[in-house]
Amino acid sequence: MSRTPKIAVNTIGCKVNQYDSAAMLALFLAQGYEQVDFDMPADVYLVSTCTVTAIADKKSRQMLNRARKLNPNAVICAAGCLSQKDGEALKEKCDVDVIIGNADRAQIVERVKENLAERRLVTDVTEIRKDDVYEDLSLSSPTDKTRAFIKIQEGCDNFCAYCIIPYVRGKARSRDIQSILNEVSALVSQGVREIVLTGIHVSSYGSDLKDDARLIDLLEALDSIEGLERLRLGSLEPLLIDEAFCRRAAQIRALCPHFHLSLQSGSATVLARMNRKYSPEMYLNSVRLLKKYFDAPALTTDIIVGFPGETEAEFQETVDFVNTVGFSKLHVFPYSIRTGTKAATMPNQVDSETKKTRVHVLTRLDERMQESFAAQFVGQTVSVLFEEPDGQNPKNYIGYTKRYIRVSAPAEQNEIRDIKIARTKGATGYES
Ligand code: SF4
Repeated sequence: MSRTPKIAVNTIGCKVNQYDSAAMLALFLAQGYEQVDFDMPADVYLVSTCTVTAIADKKSRQMLNRARKLNPNAVICAAGCLSQKDGEALKEKCDVDVIIGNADRAQIVERVKENLAERRLVTDVTEIRKDDVYEDLSLSSPTDKTRAFIKIQEGCDNFCAYCIIPYVRGKARSRDIQSILNEVSALVSQGVREIVLTGIHVSSYGSDLKDDARLIDLLEALDSIEGLERLRLGSLEPLLIDEAFCRRAAQIRALCPHFHLSLQSGSATVLARMNRKYSPEMYLNSVRLLKKYFDAPALTTDIIVGFPGETEAEFQETVDFVNTVGFSKLHVFPYSIRTGTKAATMPNQVDSETKKTRVHVLTRLDERMQESFAAQFVGQTVSVLFEEPDGQNPKNYIGYTKRYIRVSAPAEQNEIRDIKIARTKGATGYES
């Protein structure tokens, strides 16, 4: 490659995978590559695959095959969780050149060089081991100046019965606090206005660090970075939220009153079968604390419907629980079998029609709850961070409040502006 080599990146799945993609892209850019869109001709295509559901597996393979069609001579790299779990099977099903595992991302550029030199399949998938340490990759520059997702943690020790992630991402391990502070300081000085902390199990941040620093210590340290305007937390475990956490968190200037607390089910018996570590009562206690320490906090969550053996009565317990909490947004997923997990072999798998009906019930409830949460701010003035043009209204930009409600109003990109809310717009947010 004598001209500037081109790289195209595609990511399937979660924010952690997106961060990993951006960090691997930074390694290529440092070697003189130029990034192009994924549907353009490129010399290297990098797909960060996902295996959280069967659909994610399929999308990952489709993306690898699409890359091959876009340029039959390109180097096609498969990274991420599907490469880690099923690297061998991937070789059979997709015409890939480099397969890289979750412990080997830092070597991606070297592996591409090997492939180019020897024109042979290069596989680098280290078995996820118990003694893995955090692989410290970082972003060289923001991919988006409005909001940057920062990875603070990798892996999970929880082994929820439905989840394959601990098998492909390994044990929980935390990123060094100074490394996070350095990256956030650098991004803020380049104009990033909001930082979102992500990880596979953010709540366990620090449990493996020698200096006893926990998530709340990290939040306090980040809050002292000059110019950081918003700090948002990724998905949390309800048990993290206790009185001591809330008391300190409520003093953190930049922290958005938006908490994503994974619920998965509102039924005690389903939670026990899922191997979740809390009961609905414990969850409710965390909600009460958040409502005590934060003014009208936005509470969002994930729910899995149709977990093996979920009866109508258990599903109804979830519906009732959701109504009791009053979330600002639900993410509802039908249970999907993942081979290798405990739930995959459980009896009484729920049929797909029942799952579809249950998704539908919660989706309707979600729309009503979103609208009712948003309605309480009509007539108030709220701070909005604007991100992108409103496709429906060329005069407006779309932005988000600290409680992550979508707003359409006249503004500039990347601007934080106080907006008086005129009306809600269905479940899709506000208009000024
Ligand atoms: S907490 Fe449970 S659902 Fe989340 S990554 Fe760990 S095992 Fe998976």
